[in-house]
Amino acid sequence: MTDKLTTPFRFREIGSRTLVSNEVGDYGFFEAGIAGRILGNDLLKDEETRLSDLLIKFDETEHWKLLALAKRVKDRLSRTKQGLSYIIIIPTLRCDLSCTYCQVSRAPLHAKGFDWDEEKLSRFSNFLDGLQGDKVKIEFQGGEPTLRPDLIKQIISMGEERFPESEFVICTNLMSVTKEMAEIYRRPNVYISTSIDGPEDVMASNRTHNQKSAKQFFENFKHIKYCYGIHKVSALPTITEEMLRDPKALIDLYLSLGFSSIFLRPVNYMGFARKTFKELSKDVAKWNQFYREAIEYIVQINKDTFFEEFYFSLVLKNIFQIDDHGFVDFRSPNFFLSDYCVIDFDGRIYPSDEARMLSRTGHVDLSLGEMGGPIDKEKLRNLNWHSMNQVDSDCLHCAYMPFCGVDMIDDLSRYNRIDSPKLDTWFCMRHMMIFDLIFEKVASKDIEWLDVFLKWVYRKIDPPKTYELFYDKAEI
Ligand code: SF4
Repeated sequence: MTDKLTTPFRFREIGSRTLVSNEVGDYGFFEAGIAGRILGNDLLKDEETRLSDLLIKFDETEHWKLLALAKRVKDRLSRTKQGLSYIIIIPTLRCDLSCTYCQVSRAPLHAKGFDWDEEKLSRFSNFLDGLQGDKVKIEFQGGEPTLRPDLIKQIISMGEERFPESEFVICTNLMSVTKEMAEIYRRPNVYISTSIDGPEDVMASNRTHNQKSAKQFFENFKHIKYCYGIHKVSALPTITEEMLRDPKALIDLYLSLGFSSIFLRPVNYMGFARKTFKELSKDVAKWNQFYREAIEYIVQINKDTFFEEFYFSLVLKNIFQIDDHGFVDFRSPNFFLSDYCVIDFDGRIYPSDEARMLSRTGHVDLSLGEMGGPIDKEKLRNLNWHSMNQVDSDCLHCAYMPFCGVDMIDDLSRYNRIDSPKLDTWFCMRHMMIFDLIFEKVASKDIEWLDVFLKWVYRKIDPPKTYELFYDKAEI
């Protein structure tokens, strides 16, 4: 009998079965007690074959399997090859609204010293000159960037002059659509991102503070949709207490506005807003209940149409190894500043927008340098080291580790530290619920759900019925 090699594996009970995953996220469902049988060399013949295919336990003579696994681990842990190409900028911090959850990332409408000046523009131009690659995506955040259409136009020209492929996203509260902004929106490579928290009364309570402006918002939205089509605009709800109670109302609203996607994102209240929404910002159980109800409803909707929850879909793609690791708060390793960065109104560079906000509240300074100056490599190395679930003592033992990400900025903002036991964190409890839900449906071969998973993976209303994607050969 030849000796066997065993590589790191993880397991979790899913209903009456046991999910076993390898180091890079291949997985299979086994009968209960499999972990003990792997370690005790007490496997049934078909279990031996399947575990060998999963590169978890194989004959020493098949040493190449170890090398194949090592190569895949190396590829997963490597930096993206794409280079820095997605830049979020805050050309002004001034805003004409004062939303309940956004007090740290705005300055009053007439405040002085919160806009980019000629010198910042010139430094940004040099910054763009330093980027490699032939693509760039620039997202204008604020504040309300449309207060400065002149800056937007100049920055669009800078991007277009330097890169064969350029795309621009203007994040706006859509309180007005001036003639100058309409001209900018008309360009095919310019997109609009806005916030829609709910119907008029919710918008009035969260954002505009009066019904008239909330009405105006929806009129502007309809105007944009009429002029340029729904593909021009994406929207994000900030889900506060009012909408948590009724996920269907929010989803119905997005459907009625013509969207085929919604991103249900919990708010990580920061600064003053943290005090106002103290309980809500900690209550992950309430969030999970809302989210599960929302997903169940969306699955029903998908019987007749295509409608996606952006984040669930992202997690699915991570599990089924579809290459779409674009979300900076859900990657591991994260490699900050490798493909994405945020540049504030004062020229400071941050690894993410949440990191910028956390710094602005005086919580902890996560800036990594300044446009035109050196990057603090030591700080960057430190942040990167703590942005790998592969080195976290809880994640290391979790069956979902290969599919999961890490969000140290969220941990810092909620717990003031990054070393809380992972299993007790909001991030972990939120993701554990999503993974459990997905694997419950895969383990039980729930065709209604699997059909929706396929729609989201392929991004098609009528995807091929490739259920093989979810199972190893023995399970099909
Ligand atoms: S954060 Fe939680 S779900 Fe994600 S890998 Fe770590 S322990 Fe698992």
